[in-house]
Order: sequence, then C-alpha cells, then structure tokens
Amino acid sequence: MHYSAFLIKYAEIGVKGKNRYIFEDQLMSRLRAALRPVEGSFRVTKSVGRIYVICEGEYDMDQAVQAMGRVFGISSICPLVQLADEGFEKLCGSVIAFVDEAYEKKDFSFKVFARRTRKNYPLDSMEIAAQLGEAILAAYPGLTVDVHEPDVGIYVEIRDNEINLYSESIPGPGGMPVGSNGTGMLLLSGGIDSPVAGWMCSKRGMELEAVYFHAPPYTGEQAKEKVVELARIVSAYSGPIKLHIVNFTEIQMYIYQTCPHDELTIIMRRYMMRIAQMLAEKDGCQALITGESIGQVASQTVQSLVCTNAVCTMPVFRPLIAFDKMDIVAISEKIGAYETSILPYEDCCTIFVAKHPVTKPLLSVIEKSELKLGDMTEMVARAIDGAEIVKVG
Ligand code: ATP
Ligand code: MG
Repeated sequence: MHYSAFLIKYAEIGVKGKNRYIFEDQLMSRLRAALRPVEGSFRVTKSVGRIYVICEGEYDMDQAVQAMGRVFGISSICPLVQLADEGFEKLCGSVIAFVDEAYEKKDFSFKVFARRTRKNYPLDSMEIAAQLGEAILAAYPGLTVDVHEPDVGIYVEIRDNEINLYSESIPGPGGMPVGSNGTGMLLLSGGIDSPVAGWMCSKRGMELEAVYFHAPPYTGEQAKEKVVELARIVSAYSGPIKLHIVNFTEIQMYIYQTCPHDELTIIMRRYMMRIAQMLAEKDGCQALITGESIGQVASQTVQSLVCTNAVCTMPVFRPLIAFDKMDIVAISEKIGAYETSILPYEDCCTIFVAKHPVTKPLLSVIEKSELKLGDMTEMVARAIDGAEIVKVG
C-alpha cells in the first residue's frame, strides 16, 4: 500500500489555548529534523489545526514511521491516502480499492467515520458514511458493519482541497514537543538510570545538555565512549545534545586524600552537582536532571539525597525518584539504551568507593568534613575550563 501522506495527531498540545501555534510549530520543526535522515522527500505542513507530513515520491515507510515515532508530542501517526475530489462515485471506488489494498482478508467488522470541513459538499457526513458503508459491503460481502466496536474504523474526511482516507493509527510517543519547555543539564553517567531520566524530561518538552564526569586514567576511553553513545541514543529523541566531559580526577583524588572515606561518595556527588550547576548557569539551562531514585544505593538514601541537594540552588529534576529498578529497565530497553548501559566499564563513582559508605549522612557532618578541603575555587575552575565538549545528534 502506498501512502502519500501522514496525518499527525497530537494530544496535550491541542489544549494550550492561544499558545497552541507555538507548540504546533515546535512539533513541526522536530518532525522535519527527525525525517531529514530518512530516505525520501517530505513536506511538513499545517492546515486548519492539523499537521500533515506529505511524502513526495518514493520513500521508506518503515524508516519514516520509526523516525516520527520518536518525536515527542505526537499521539498517533495515521498513514493517509489523499485524493482529489472527483465526485462521490469516484470516491466510492477509491474507498473500495483502499480497503482491498489495505486488508488482505475481508472478514472483519468496520465502521465508516465521515467528516466534512467543506460544507458545500453535496452529501452531509451521515449520508457520506452510510453510502460508503453500503458500497463497501456490496463490494466485500464477507465484511460486517459494527457501529459500536468495529475491528476497523475507516476515516473519510472531505476537506477544502482534498479528501483524506485512512484506517490505521500508529501510536506515537506522547509527551510534548522538545523545545517547548526550557533546557535541562543532565548528569549523564554510564549507567541505566540517567539516560532514562534525560529521555523522560525531554518527553515533557525539555531540550537537553549533558555533563559526564570521568577520572582518567582510572576510568578509560571506552567508558567515555559509552557515555557519548548513550547521549547519542537519547538525542535520537531529544534532538542535539551538547555533552560536557569534565575531568574529575584531581578533585576526586583530593577529596579521597582529605575527607573521611565513608563520606567520599557524598562529597564527590556534591562537587558533581556544583560543577553541573555552574555549567548549566553558563549555558542558560534552568534545571539539573539526575537519574537518582530513592534507596537504590547508599548515595541515594533520602538522607544522602538531602546532602547532595543542599549544594544546589537550581531546581533538580529527578524523574525516576519513585521508580522501581525494573520499571526503569523497561524504559531503558524501550528507548534502546539498555544494551549500551550494561556494558561493563568502570564509573568514576565506583573507583574510590568505601567498603562501608555512610547511608544516613548528616548534612552538618558532611559540611564540616568539606571544610578540610579549603578553597576549591581554582580546582573547580580548572575542571570547568578543561571540559571537553562533544556535540551529538
Ligand atoms: P546511573 O544508572 O544513572 O549511573 P546509578 O544507579 O549508577 O545511576 P549513581 O551512580 O549513584 O546511581 O548516580 C546517581 C546519579 O548521579 C546518576 O543517575 C547521574 O545522574 C549522576 N551521576 C553519577 N555518576 C555520574 C558521572 N560520572 N557523571 C555524570 N553524572 C553522574
Ligand atoms: Mg552510575
């Protein structure tokens, strides 16, 4: 079956009142970007509150659907046959041919849903639906009409300049178009959680930047490449990501030499948050994003989160905070990150980890230990200035 266009249905952005066009335009520009690498030529247009992708000439349907399936804000993708209006009889013939091509087995129940935005069409919607239904039944006696729970809905829309015909509705990813809701700085490690956290915020319309802390030579080139690859996987949904790769070795070693070992992870994480926040402020991001989830590890008990959070003035979004691991894994698999996330390369957090890290740190105690570090301004500035930037997506 050759479809000449797609009707793009969107969910939440449809209810944004006067700002609706901003969301629609954002969605259209994301659709264009997603379709750019797909074989074929596509035109994304808007007409009377509807978004269409018009396919010009031959194209790869599977690739196109897959690419559109990653554009947040889309609730469903309907492959369309667009017809010129050449009279009702011609329309009956086209609908019959459509059913023939789209459905090999003619043994299902159906209902015709007709709509006309062109009010001077000689038949009204009820008449169009009833007469097309009869024509389909006459052509394929194995079919039945079921107006309550049809197996197949056949949609016919008579519009000003064309007639749309469709019956299939492929679910989109939902959410809001990226770019409709600020920018977040994602703390991206090589694990399972942080790519999922970034994906979730992006799904609500946020653009992403990311920061990865590595500790060469204790963490290797492969660990870094893994994080770049994870950023690339997320960027297939979120659009381009500017990834800051921060050399954390000096800070980490110094904390290791200076502070109690059981507090190492917490203090390190506080420095990660501080640096991430400075990078975020520099680049105009409004929030930090982490993959933290209550109780997952010692550094994510509620008390630990309190200590980590205390250094942030910027809001920290933790979309996974109340998720169970298996639910996070399910999303990770769905977005295609899991196989990369489980590659066994060391993370800087795991290198100097204490055998018995504190699980209920007290903020006042942590702050006191940190005082031993003295003025960290220069060391932090060195880490920020030396950050390597990789752009993905
Ligand atoms: P993840 O699977 O995301 O690595 P995790 O279960 O390993 O999470 P932690 O290592 O405690 O948990 O990290 C908690 C969060 O802190 C991560 O989700 C991530 O947002 C951030 N983070 C941890 N390590 C790094 C790192 N090396 N670089 C950047 N962010 C990090
Ligand atoms: Mg981790």
